[in-house]
Amino acid sequence: MPETLIRNAHTVLTMNDTRQELAGADLLLRDGAISAIGPDLQTDGEVVDARNCVVTPGLVNTHHHLYQTLTRAVPGGQDALLFGWLQTLYPIWARFGPEEMFISAQAGLAELALSGCTLSSDHLYLYPNGARLDDTIAAAAEIGMRFHPTRGAMSIGESDGGLPPDSLVEREAAILEDAIRVIDAFHDPSEGAMCRVGLAPCSPFSVSRDLMRDAALLARDKGVMLHTHLAENDEDIAYSQANFGCRPGQYAEDLGWTGPDVWHAHCVKLDGQEIDLFARSRTGVAHCPCSNCRLGSGIAPVRAMRDAGVPVALGVDGSASNDSGNLMAEARQAMLLQRVARGADAMSAREALEIATRGGADVLGRPDCGRLVPGARADIALWDISGIDSAGSWDPAALLLAGPTKVTHLFVEGRQIVRDGQVTTIDLPRVIERQNRLARALRE
Ligand SMILES: [Zn+2]
Repeated sequence: MPETLIRNAHTVLTMNDTRQELAGADLLLRDGAISAIGPDLQTDGEVVDARNCVVTPGLVNTHHHLYQTLTRAVPGGQDALLFGWLQTLYPIWARFGPEEMFISAQAGLAELALSGCTLSSDHLYLYPNGARLDDTIAAAAEIGMRFHPTRGAMSIGESDGGLPPDSLVEREAAILEDAIRVIDAFHDPSEGAMCRVGLAPCSPFSVSRDLMRDAALLARDKGVMLHTHLAENDEDIAYSQANFGCRPGQYAEDLGWTGPDVWHAHCVKLDGQEIDLFARSRTGVAHCPCSNCRLGSGIAPVRAMRDAGVPVALGVDGSASNDSGNLMAEARQAMLLQRVARGADAMSAREALEIATRGGADVLGRPDCGRLVPGARADIALWDISGIDSAGSWDPAALLLAGPTKVTHLFVEGRQIVRDGQVTTIDLPRVIERQNRLARALRE
């Protein structure tokens, strides 16, 4: 790939070890990585003028259900708590197939890219009508985003006392077999990898204890990461205590679900002991503030987690419970929500951006991403600060306090996938049209 020079940035927020901020710096991208940062760099390749731009590492999304972009703002699910919300949506999701999975993933990933995201995980836990993880992996490859899909699963249907309808659950042996297939086909452990697969039984209330344990054993055998929903709200804690006789943290620890290769979504209700457990074991958390607000789940103790040393990242969560997929807006919401709970000095704009970039990369086991340093992958977001969002701003580097919340240019592995605010790799108007057509068909 030819070189690209990002020239004369207004400010570069490096998110390096000392969180350096550079004025007027250049970044040279070569072979998918950042080869140099500094003043007056030269190239024979393409030059991008960044005079009016704040430059940040690409944002990292650590929790999503991309398929849900087809079920935003569904009446009946708009104002329900978690369990009621799920029961409204399950029958609709049961009608999805491969085309729904592919198009909804492209729509969701494009939305993320336009908000500065370069690396996203996805949690796909239902496979109706021939849908496969492969459908979403193809969608991400076409758009050119770095992708960490997880092979999710549900195995306890209504007739066994679980929440999902029986038609949406799979046999546990088939789940493990398909998990092995997708890891062997798509997981790339090498530095700079564009696709890494994880294992992600949906939640303690939709799979058995055996599947949780078997998934952990398989993940360690294959060297892949583990992900699930944990301690999301009061109903979730009550279910754990009624069915397992313990809190979610204990349940996770007993089944091998703690460690630096594990990250849990939400964790709104972690108590002090569980926070200590996560800090000690370096277990990661995907904080999803908009979804937590939308479903009235509560305020995750992010300040306490960060102070204790828990690795915290951000997730937009599925578009049925956000219902937006703007990761920059999510970072702002994370900052605001801690302030609601703990006061105006509970989280700065820069700390929230750090969680959204470096924090996310670390939780996903990607120290090669999430920071702008020589040798890191060239995943870079450029935010134009000459527009109305930041007009009059005294500190444009505090992006989250004013704006913008949409990116102007975006590079993934050195390749430009957003130029002048437009996705370059796919025909987005056509994707939107297909997406709306599929949503209409599901409604009718
Ligand atoms: Zn979720």
